[in-house]
Amino acid sequence: MSIFTKKCSLCGVNKYICFWGDMPMRKWKRPVLGILSALVLVGGGYAIYETIQIEGEPDLFFKLLMSFVGFIFLWGLINSIFGCDRCVAKTFGSA
Ligand SMILES: [Zn+2]
Repeated sequence: MSIFTKKCSLCGVNKYICFWGDMPMRKWKRPVLGILSALVLVGGGYAIYETIQIEGEPDLFFKLLMSFVGFIFLWGLINSIFGCDRCVAKTFGSA
């Protein structure tokens, strides 16, 4: 029980961000969350950069949407590195 009940510094923040509550904890969630988040951030960031080069400055809605999506995946990456098992399970969602 010790590792599952231990709280990390991200638990307090995740309590508010992950409003859906606790999710089942799985061993594979951490590496998958980390790799997936990193891929989306790098790939998405590059895609946005390319789009701006071709299309010019995006509108406000696009910027807000990208900031939101970027934040979600950045938070996922942070959790996969620093979070406890509970936080990883929460940010990953149901699986
Ligand atoms: Zn935690």
